[in-house]
Parts: sequence; structure tokens; C-alpha cells
Amino acid sequence: MNGRIFKIAANDYEVHAGEQVWHCRFRGKMKLERGNALKLAAVGDYVEFVPGDEHQGTIEKVVERRSRLSRHDVLKPSKEQVIVANVDVLFVVQAAKDPDFNLGIVDKCTVMAAANRLPLVIVVNKSDLAQPDVSLYEKAGYKVIRTSARTGEGVEALRGFLKDKTSVLMGPSGVGKSSLLNALDPELALKVGAVSKRGEGRHTTTWVELVPMGGGLIADTPGMEFFTLWGVTPENLKDHFLDFVDLADGCRFRNCSHIKEAGCAVKGHVAESRYENYLDLLDKLISQRRDR
Ligand code: GDP
Ligand code: ZN
Repeated sequence: MNGRIFKIAANDYEVHAGEQVWHCRFRGKMKLERGNALKLAAVGDYVEFVPGDEHQGTIEKVVERRSRLSRHDVLKPSKEQVIVANVDVLFVVQAAKDPDFNLGIVDKCTVMAAANRLPLVIVVNKSDLAQPDVSLYEKAGYKVIRTSARTGEGVEALRGFLKDKTSVLMGPSGVGKSSLLNALDPELALKVGAVSKRGEGRHTTTWVELVPMGGGLIADTPGMEFFTLWGVTPENLKDHFLDFVDLADGCRFRNCSHIKEAGCAVKGHVAESRYENYLDLLDKLISQRRDR
């Protein structure tokens, strides 16, 4: 049978096949072949499994991923850990006010999206409170949706984006993520809330799960503090600021890092906040490399 992993707890892979839920394990041989059980598959993977008694099953094969969102493995930072497999779109939720729209977080998310080759949608919630100018992101090619969980503004537009897709929702606490999910589907939002509040135990693998929402699947995670920029180095960071890449053709030097080079077509030609956040992320990546 074919199914999809919605949740992983220790060696128990919760596989959904249509309306049915199966609790699966990997065949012993595959385990040996692929090493650590936690790395066998990720939430979001499509699998082929052999059904057994009482909705237990054995996974025979993991289907090749079309995409993934990864981070550095917590225990072995040199290794990739897939957070969710087969992702279609990333969302970053920010508040228009209370707390203030955080450009630093949004810029980090644009890099994360680029590094994982995924589209990013920026959700500005609490639009009933303020109208921050986010045109710099619209100009850079990002889709922005203004919502209010309070008035219902934009909730249908958000639903349209979730439909038939696997989405990962990011955003710090307090921006109204739970309220938005509640506006989309009050019944399922309770379940999502339970995931968020569980937090991340170092050795648990239940910290992310897929939940049906808005006609698609949302991967809710406890918090984006745990997301690192897999695949991003001090050298290639500039390539993950996609709006910089467009301008970089005009730089005098090929491979210009847009820092001190003469004839740079990026420095001074992009939004100042975004340029500052580029330098900040660069500093962080350099010091992380020292620490690792
Ligand atoms: P979360 O931590 O991101 O899940 O945020 P919550 O959904 O718990 O919301 C945090 C606070 O913001 C609560 O007091 C909500 O009532 C409030 N809130 C959420 N969405 C909106 C909104 O669209 N407009 C306004 N004015 N307040 C909101
Ligand atoms: Zn340059």
C-alpha cells in the first residue's frame, strides 16, 4: 500500500493512507542499510508499506522526495536533518503590530526558503491594528497576505494558498498563529496548538507533524528558533538573497560579496534593512562556523 508519514514517535511511523491510519516500522534489513532509525524517513515522506494486523505495517520503501525543508542535525551539526519532506510552500507569520513586524525574522526566512528552493509567503496578521510598509518584500517578488484573525480579513485568501499543498508555518509566538489556525478550522486548531506547546525534547521525534488544515496539510513545529540555515555558508549567503542575485550582474567584480568591493550594484541599491540583515546573518554564519 501507499501512504504518507504524518508523525514519527521513536520507532513508530504514523502513516496515513486515505482515511486510514497505520502504525508502521521499518524492515530490519533496511534499518541496517540506512543506519540510525531516526534518519530512515521524515514527516511528509511518501512510503510503500505492507499492511499487517491491527493497523500495524512494515515500511518497504521511501519514495524519492520532490523537496524538503532541512536543518542541521541537533546532535551532529555537520549532518542534514530533514524537518519535513515534500513541502510545497513556506509561510512566515508576522504581526503588523504587537509585536512589531520583525524584518530580521522575515529576511532569515527568505534565505531559508531560497536555500531549500521553496516559495515563501509572508503573512502579516493583526492587520486590523496597523499597516506596516512591507512593499520591499513585494518588490523583491514575495507574496504578501494581510490577515486579521480578529476581523477575518484575508483568512479566505490564506485558505486558498493552503489548499492541496503541504505547507510549513513559521513565526514567533504572539503573532497570532494559533488564532489564525483557529479562524481557518476551530476543531483542528486545537490539535495544532497541542503540537506547538509540546516543545522540542532533544531526543524526541514527535516535534513536528502534519495536520489537515484549509484543504491542505500544515506542518506545525514548536518554533523556528530550532531552524538553522542548512546549506547556507558565509560564501554562498549572497546567492540566497534572490533579489541581490538579480542586481549582482551589475557588480564590477564577478562573485562580488557586496561588502567592500568597488562598483557594487547591490550595496546602496537594496532596502537598507535587508542589507543590514544580510551583514548580520553573515556575521552569525561566520561565528557558527568557528563554533562547530
Ligand atoms: P501565537 O502565539 O502566534 O499562537 O499567537 P496567539 O494566537 O496566541 O495570539 C496572541 C495574541 O494576539 C492574543 O491575545 C490574540 O487574541 C491576539 N491576536 C491574534 N490575532 C490577532 C489579530 O488578527 N488582531 C488582533 N488585534 N489581535 C490578534
Ligand atoms: Zn556587489
